[in-house]
Formats: sequence, C-alpha cells, structure tokens
Amino acid sequence: MSGKVGFISLGCPKALVDSERILTQLRAEGYGIVPSYEEADVVVVNTCGFITPAVEESLEAIGEALTHNGKVIVTGCLGEKPDTILERHPKVLAITGQADIEGVMTAVHKTLPPDENPYTSLIPLPPTGVKLTPKHYSYLKIAEGCNHKCSFCIIPQMRGLQVSRDASDILYEAYRLVASGTKELIVIAQDSSAYGSDLRHRESDFQERQIKAHLVPLVSELAEMGAWVRLHYVYPYPHVRDLIPLMAEGKLLPYLDVPLQHASPKVLKAMRRPGGAESHLKTIQEWRNICPELAIRSTFIVGFPGETEEDFEYLLAFLREARLERVGAFTYSEVPGATANALANQVPEELKKERHARLMALQQDISLEKQRAKIGQTLDVIIDNYGDLPGELIGRSKSDAPGIDGTVTAQSDGTVKIGDIVRVKISAGSHYDLEGDVVETLPWKPNVLSFT
Ligand code: SF4
Repeated sequence: MSGKVGFISLGCPKALVDSERILTQLRAEGYGIVPSYEEADVVVVNTCGFITPAVEESLEAIGEALTHNGKVIVTGCLGEKPDTILERHPKVLAITGQADIEGVMTAVHKTLPPDENPYTSLIPLPPTGVKLTPKHYSYLKIAEGCNHKCSFCIIPQMRGLQVSRDASDILYEAYRLVASGTKELIVIAQDSSAYGSDLRHRESDFQERQIKAHLVPLVSELAEMGAWVRLHYVYPYPHVRDLIPLMAEGKLLPYLDVPLQHASPKVLKAMRRPGGAESHLKTIQEWRNICPELAIRSTFIVGFPGETEEDFEYLLAFLREARLERVGAFTYSEVPGATANALANQVPEELKKERHARLMALQQDISLEKQRAKIGQTLDVIIDNYGDLPGELIGRSKSDAPGIDGTVTAQSDGTVKIGDIVRVKISAGSHYDLEGDVVETLPWKPNVLSFT
C-alpha cells in the first residue's frame, strides 16, 4: 500500500467527474482512500470557485482539513486562483488547477511517495474506475471547457476553451459503465450541444464503426445501449431538434436541461448570450410538437445588471407561456474576474431577492399544476434510496435528474432494491415531488455484454 489519502469533493457534477478520475489514479497507484482526516496521511480537496459562496465553502473546507490533518493539497476550480487560497491558507502543500490529474498526482508523490512494490498496481480496480455516484447512475463528461464568453461567467478562463473527447473514448466508457450496472447515463459538458466542434467532428472507431464527434451521432449510439440517457447543459442549437424524435421513440429520456438564463433580448445581449423569448418559445414548441412528454429544465438569473422591471416582467411572461417543467433561479451575484462586474445599473440586493421570490411563486404554481396532472398516471421510476418507513422507496421519474429535480416516494411490498426501475401509479403530487405505489418491477436488459 502506498499510503492513505483523504478526499473532499466539492462543486458541480463536472468537478465530481474530475474527483472520480483522481481517485481512480490514486487507487491504480496503490494508495488507500480513507474516510477520515485522522486516518489520512494527506488530504486532497477538490474545490469549486464559481460564485462567491462556493469560494467561501471551498476555503472553509481547506481550513477544516488543515486543522484536522495538516497536510493538504488543493485542486479544482479555485485552484486556478492560488492567491485567493494562499492569502487565507498559506500552509497548503500544493495547489493545482481544475482537471489537472497529473498535477495532483505529482503533489501526492512528493508528500507520500508511491510504493515501489510492482504488485501494488495489480490491486484490482472496478472496470469503471472509482465512482462517486451510486452504481445505478453515472455522469459522462463529453468535453471540458467552453468557447462562449457569457459576461457573468469565468469558466472559460478557469477551464479553458472547449476540448472534446473522441466519440469512441466516450462510448467505450459508457459501455463499461452500463456493463457494470449503470442504468442511467447523465451526459454533461459546459455546452453539450457544441460537443466535437473543436475536433471538427472527426470520426473515431467504436466497435468497428466510425462515429462522428457530434452530439447527434454520439447520443444516438448511447441510446442503443439500453440505459436511460439524460442530457444536461444543452443549448438550443438547431441540431438538438434531431434528438427529439429519439425521445419520442423512448430511446432517450424525454428530458432536456437547457440553461436559458433570461428571456429579454436586451438582458441576454448584456449577458453576451444569443436569442430571446421569441426564439426560445418557437424552439420549445417545435420540440414539444415532436415529443409532447418532454420535460424541459432551465435556469435563470434575476437581477442581472441593467435588468429593469420591464425586462423582468418580460421574463415572467415568457415563463407563463413556456410553462417549463423544471426551473432553477438564482439572484445575480458577482464572480470575481467576470466582465459583467463592470456593467452599469447594478440591481439592489433587496430588489433581486424580491424578483427571485416573484419568479419562484409563479413557477411553483405552474409546477404544481403540472405535477398534479400526473396523478393517476403510471410512471417509470428509478430507485435511489430507501425511505424511512418499511417498504418506502425514494426514486426519480424520467423527468427528474438527481440532486436538482424532484423525487417520487413510492410504497412497495419490500422486494424492490436500490437501482431497480419500477412502474409507479401516482396518487399525490406537490410542487416538486410525487407519491404513489409500485405496481411492477421492470426487467433490466441492457444491450451490452454484462461485466457483473
Ligand atoms: S455560462 Fe456561458 S461561458 Fe460560462 S460555461 Fe456556460 S456557456 Fe460557457
């Protein structure tokens, strides 16, 4: 054994995938992963640095690790700003940027040299590497970085321009995951729709077929594996339309996470983002015509600099008309280094909060109506956990992504297990969550050769 490493993973699903890669490399080199500061020889903290509260949370986590262990290596998004870390925590051993697995490993080797025993590297690893999500769902990161220049965001500065993975690389990873028990693949990137543009959509070999690095052929291949496939961070480019028939056929989950951020063309222009209510509505209508059961999730920023009452009303009118299934809203907050910080007419904090409350109240009414319309229907639900009561299960319908959307609480006869996909007859619905009874457990028959 090479030594013991404690690991703290903060931030979004994209950071979680980086954590999985670092942990996989640590395990491959014979390091033990331990759950407490006391047992660890060194602690790695994978940080988030996107908005001010996330920076604070990361700095606190580093401080806690220093207090309880003393030997701390920092990586991740906040690692791109070493001065911010060193100002508060000058005693950290090393700082590396996001997705810098080699940098983390070099820092670990310096503190805790790897075991020279050649058999250490023969410690069996699961075919999927180390996963931080439950066995039945996995995030699949298809690209790093972003080519856009949204004025409120510093991700392109932190994570760099878009670098896509070859389609074959992604598809073999997905194959291994599904063969090892993953039933839901969750596709992520900063902008999934732009996947492959940096590779000029070059082809690569997957099972003796040439697959283009482009969202449509990639996702069409993923859909053939027989697992649930959920798409996140999809921008409404015209080619996204080509994926909707696959949703209508039941090959892809009828779910799209489309971060629109606003509806007023004026605010969107200040955000340096394309479109506006009119084009958003046209696209959404077109998608729904092809797949009426499509659940659209989106996020919005309220109180962006220069947002007038009229702009905000425009956004509310858009939400009333679009009737999106899932909505997340945030009050605008400055991100150190973002160009929007210099914009005039910053909206007072109180007004931002008031607008946020108004938006959420409107959306809650829409959501409640949509949720109640499901009462009496029978939905496919993937089980994430057991509830507190005997036979109670907590799961998600096809319209619910883990961690951000609602849940379905279902009563069963006690034979259903975590990771099963069941049919649930819905009997009650609240703003975000549903309740019902399990009527059937569905057989699991992926189109891959099983490793389990
Ligand atoms: S908000 Fe804009 S710049 Fe930031 S990651 Fe998303 S698309 Fe890229």
